[in-house]
Order: sequence, then structure tokens, then C-alpha cells
Amino acid sequence: MRWGAPRGDIWKQKKGGAVAGDGLGAWLEGFRARAAGVPAKVLERALAEVAFLPEVIAKDRTQAEFSKTIWAYLDAAVSEARLAGGFAALAAQGAALLQIEAAYGVPKEVLIAVWGMESNYGAMRGDVPVISALATLAFEGRRAAFFEAELLAALRIVAAGDVEPAAMRGSWAGAMGHTQFMPSSYLRHAVDFDGDGRRDIWGDDPVDALASTAAYLAAAGWQAGQPWGVEVTLPAGFDFALSGKAGVRPVAEWAALGLRGPLPEAGAASVLLPAGAQGPALLIFANFRAIAAYNAADAYVLAVGHLADRLRGAGPIVADWPRGARALSRDERAELQRLLARAGYDPGGADGLIGPNSMAALRKWQRAAGQVPDGHASLAMLEALRRADSPNPT
Ligand code: CA
Repeated sequence: MRWGAPRGDIWKQKKGGAVAGDGLGAWLEGFRARAAGVPAKVLERALAEVAFLPEVIAKDRTQAEFSKTIWAYLDAAVSEARLAGGFAALAAQGAALLQIEAAYGVPKEVLIAVWGMESNYGAMRGDVPVISALATLAFEGRRAAFFEAELLAALRIVAAGDVEPAAMRGSWAGAMGHTQFMPSSYLRHAVDFDGDGRRDIWGDDPVDALASTAAYLAAAGWQAGQPWGVEVTLPAGFDFALSGKAGVRPVAEWAALGLRGPLPEAGAASVLLPAGAQGPALLIFANFRAIAAYNAADAYVLAVGHLADRLRGAGPIVADWPRGARALSRDERAELQRLLARAGYDPGGADGLIGPNSMAALRKWQRAAGQVPDGHASLAMLEALRRADSPNPT
């Protein structure tokens, strides 16, 4: 559901004739045979208008690399306009939100934050015809099996009578409606909260989508009454090797280690340093993982969590971000991974994506090299690795 919501004329369907889409018709014939369990009349109705969407393939092949700093991302995600929209949404949907919160245990501010992140409170739900987009991606995309399963899920939604095929609009990758549900997520979690007989996440009224999002988060393990995370202060001399999502300890242990701040008794927690040792420190809890089920990027989870906090009336993050630093490009991150591997610390590949394995390898190298072991892939660490790798280190 991380997909953006493209708009504009380029999304108009191009029927027939599109050279790159030749063969889609034959593919659809084969797909019909595989679409077991979908009534023939539904297949007929839903697939009649399917068109090859070349722009969808183009988008799939040129996904933007993520090379924004976390603070630039949060500045945009939790802007004054986003906050104002969130307060307005809380006011407008107040009564329904109270009912949804009572039913699922997910705070209204978290639901509004997801809504704000996914579609800017419904303003950018996406207007790509989803069945055509999914058929295009299943036919020619790089992840055919994934998108064929989503296409099948989309047809099951039509079969259930929730929506007309033409009204299934969304992002180029098939994420639909106010909170950008993929069809398979819709089948698992969408609910008809307003009781009109349809699970409508596409229309102007967001109530079903907000309740469906609450159902999704509840199923992902949301713990009612618990925080997602809190900003903390680390003690002088803190052992940064203890930080990272895998370093889970009871809150009491963190307190004994000298962490200060609001330390809620919310079970096991880990210390997250989104910008490394030089930036804010957060103590994160099980609800961080529940939000991550929606979109696994730490930056996304932080944005949802922080936006929700601000909508509850909390202030900005207190500690300073290291705003003088810049983000590494994907090539630079891959170079950092190659240098770690060459130094004997296996990051599990050099794909330019810094995940848990890369961070663990970087921590080990940092410790051996006398650096602060925060696992943060910064330009300073890349430069230090380059120096260590040069044949005549000075
Ligand atoms: Ca409904």
C-alpha cells in the first residue's frame, strides 16, 4: 500500500492497438480458465473492458529509489497542511471514529494518520482502472504471480457485489480507495461499517475505509491502549550496540540502562535510531510492528505514528535531526554493502537496500573500527569504509 496515487490523462485506457499489449487478449483467455470460483457472468462483465495500460508497466519499471533523509520525509509527511487536514478529518468523522475505535481498539488519530498518508484524506485515491492495471501487470509485469493473485482477488470483490468493475479505481499497482487497500487485503479485512450492504472504500464517504483500516491493524496485532513508540533520551555512554529493532527488552530493563523520558509499561520494546546516534532516539513497541504490516518502511511507520501523536495534541520530536547530513544514493548504499563484505562483514548482498542484515554487519564493522555502533548507513560511514578499504590508509 505504499504506492502513490497517480492522476491525470495519461491513465486513460488505450484499447486494442497498443503494440506492447499485443497478446493480452490471449492471456486473458488463459486467465479465465485459471480463475476458478469466479462466476462466468462476473468474469464476462469485469474483463470485457480490460485494456493494456503501458504507463502501468512504465511505473513498475521505474520505481523511485528512496533516498530522502528521514527528516525531509517526515517534514513532508507531517506538514502543517497535513496536520490541518487531519484535525479537520477528526472533526468531520468524529462520531463514526468513536464507534470504529470502540469496535477495533485502534485510536482514531492512527486511522486518520493512515488516511492522510495513503490518500491525503481521500483527495488522492487514484483514478487508474484497477482491473486493467492488475491485468496489465499480471500479463507483462515483473511480478506476474503476485499481480495475477491480486487480479483474482479483485474479481472476487466484484463477485461479492461490493462494487461495479468500472468503479474500482486506485493506484497504478492496484491499491484502492481512501487507505489504498490491495484487493487481497480488502478481501481479508474490508468491512461494511455503515451498514448499507456494501464494503465501499472507493466512494466519497470514508467510513467503511477507516473501519477497514482499523480491522486491518487489529488483525496485524494492534494492542489497544498501548503506544506505538515514544521519544526517549539515551544516557551518556549508552551502548549503541543495544539499539535496533532486534534488540528487544522489557521497559524496566531500558529504564535500568538509563533511558529517560515517558517510559510506558507497554511490554517489550526496542530502541530505534532513525538517523543514527546523532539524531532522535525512540522506544518502539508492538504497535510499531502493527503499523509496519501496512507498509514496512520505518519512515512510513514513523510518519503514521508521529502524525497520530500530533493529532492527539503532542508536540514535535524534540531532539535535533542531523540536518547537515544528506541521504546516500542507492549506488552509494550498494557500495557501502560491498565494502562491508570486503572487510569481512557480510551484509547479505549489495542491492542498495539497507535492511536488518546490512545494519547488523555495519554495527559489527563499526565496533571493530572504533566507530559508534549505531548501524546507520551515513555518508560518514561510507567514507570511513572507503578509507579503511584503500591500499594505503593514512
Ligand atoms: Ca458500506
